[in-house]
Amino acid sequence: MARKVAVIGAGVSGLISLKCCVEEGLEPTCFERTEDIGGLWRFKEHVEDGRASIYHSVITNTSKEMSCFSDFPMPEDFPNFLHNSKLLEYFRIFAKKFDLLKYIQFQTTVLSVKKLPDFPSSGQWEVVTQSHGQERREVFDAVMVCSGHHIIPNIPLDSFPGIEKFKGQYFHSRQYKHPVGFEGKRILVIGIGNSAADIAAELSKKAAQVFISTRHGSWVMSRISEDGYPWDMVFHTRFSSMLRNVLPRTVVKWMTEQQLNQWFNHENYGLEPQNKYLMKEPILNDDLPSRILYGAIKVKPRIKALTETAAIFEDDTVEEDIDVIVFATGYTFSFPFLEDSLVSVENNMVSLYKFMFPPQLEKPTLACIGLIQPLGSIFPTVELQARWVTRVFKGLCSLPSKNTMMADIINRNEKRTDLFGKSQSQILQTNYVDYLDELALEIGAKPDIASLLFKDPKLAVKLYFGPCNSYQYRLVGPGKWEGARNAIFTQKQRILKPLKTRALKHSSRFPSPFLLKVLGLFTLIVAFFFHFQWF
Ligand code: FAD
Ligand code: NAP
Repeated sequence: MARKVAVIGAGVSGLISLKCCVEEGLEPTCFERTEDIGGLWRFKEHVEDGRASIYHSVITNTSKEMSCFSDFPMPEDFPNFLHNSKLLEYFRIFAKKFDLLKYIQFQTTVLSVKKLPDFPSSGQWEVVTQSHGQERREVFDAVMVCSGHHIIPNIPLDSFPGIEKFKGQYFHSRQYKHPVGFEGKRILVIGIGNSAADIAAELSKKAAQVFISTRHGSWVMSRISEDGYPWDMVFHTRFSSMLRNVLPRTVVKWMTEQQLNQWFNHENYGLEPQNKYLMKEPILNDDLPSRILYGAIKVKPRIKALTETAAIFEDDTVEEDIDVIVFATGYTFSFPFLEDSLVSVENNMVSLYKFMFPPQLEKPTLACIGLIQPLGSIFPTVELQARWVTRVFKGLCSLPSKNTMMADIINRNEKRTDLFGKSQSQILQTNYVDYLDELALEIGAKPDIASLLFKDPKLAVKLYFGPCNSYQYRLVGPGKWEGARNAIFTQKQRILKPLKTRALKHSSRFPSPFLLKVLGLFTLIVAFFFHFQWF
């Protein structure tokens, strides 16, 4: 059984891995190359090599109730979508509460992780670290790789003929910090992910003109959903997840399109995705449509070529006098401290069982945490990953055979391509509720709604029709938390608290999207119809 665990990185994945190790009685040591916790969420004015870099205005696109860890709700007065500094504050309170800092060796970079010669029997690793110029070797029983995947910029200059002639300034979105210095400029943002949308919207308030060039388009959603509740509390319910799984794909596609076009017609705004039926990660941006409506942002197609000062697009339109190009073209990642054969990365493709375990290992003593892009919040996702992994390390859960794992990887990849498409930005994409349930099932923490219907019907209804938050996975099984039920019933209070700065006497329930309700009713009618046919 593994005891000593090396955790690489003290971002959110590393912090939760530490907590899970401690809860399982393992002995973790976390190596963090920088001087502090928080990873991506610790904003710095300057870009640092080897660490994710964000702009000053980044606000979470997943809400606080859907992003908190399962036994540690965010403080009531925290806003529903958090500025990066506020999220970092939450991680600091979390690390303090669970006394995690004592396990972290700061300013210590992991240089290599290698199997010991007797690995097939011991499952042990030699970890080489460097701190203040000093190298150190240590043996560990298991390794959790939590080094992040938004560090290496994907800047595909080959796809932009003429870039070498361009006389203006160009840089990757990771370089962008503030809109200062861009006043009066004509700016071209390439790509249409969340970085592109945030940066274009922010710059368009200062610049003379902003253009967004997109090759495939994207759906854009507001953070604000029905009744003003955060989008993810309405979108990620078990009920809607079930509907998306059981209804015919054509119906789901039609419903999704109708819903996404309710706010504004994406075709009219030039944003409609080329393949509008993919579940590709949407953009969460409340400003983008209005900035387009004001003419401050113009949406353009794929770039055909660049000249010294202009961009020529595939529809042969030309935009002259471009001063700045921002490549918001996403990220790629690598694990320089691992041997290639362990976790090989090709065009962002990795072969890991359930996004975590290399299937070919003789012993399952190494796992990647956070190498995933769920349609919902990553925080509860990495928590369940770490809960499962630590139980595998302890020998309390086991993995299937190598062949079964390989078959699962292939099957999952086919489904992913079918649902989310082939784009590099979607390679780590996964469904939210399904994936959380899958992991929870592995550790026995998935709530049994059918039996709860008799024992605690009020809770069962909340679990099924309400937001699928992390507390749901602390009701039963290992790590059961007595406060979980109460946290589920008090979430509305925590959502409304920061809004009630001028309290009025109204109350409202969590809505489930109207169309889903109608379709739910329709499904019931169809089910009844077939029921009577069978008799
Ligand atoms: P990171 O935060 O990147 O942390 C990795 C850590 O490992 C760093 O501290 C780094 O210094 C350390 N490290 C790396 N290599 C080594 C080494 N060799 N030795 C020692 N230490 C090392 N997800 C959401 O769910 N909601 C959001 O709102 C959201 N917003 C996002 C906004 C932006 C701009 C981006 C880019 C991503 C966002 N994400 C969001 C996804 C994001 O990946 C997660 O929020 C999360 O921060 C990832 O955490 P991590 O710990 O896995 O990686
Ligand atoms: P991303 O989601 O990977 O988007 C990259 C964009 O670049 C895509 O539109 C992609 O287009 C385009 N692109 C890639 N290669 C290209 C090429 N050769 N030519 C033209 N276009 C190209 O990257 P991101 O926007 O930086 O986001 C990374 C992650 O961080 C995401 O999970 C995102 O949600 C998160 N994020 C969150 C926030 C927030 O919470 N506020 C802010 C920023 C980022 P195709 O789709 O056509 O491939």
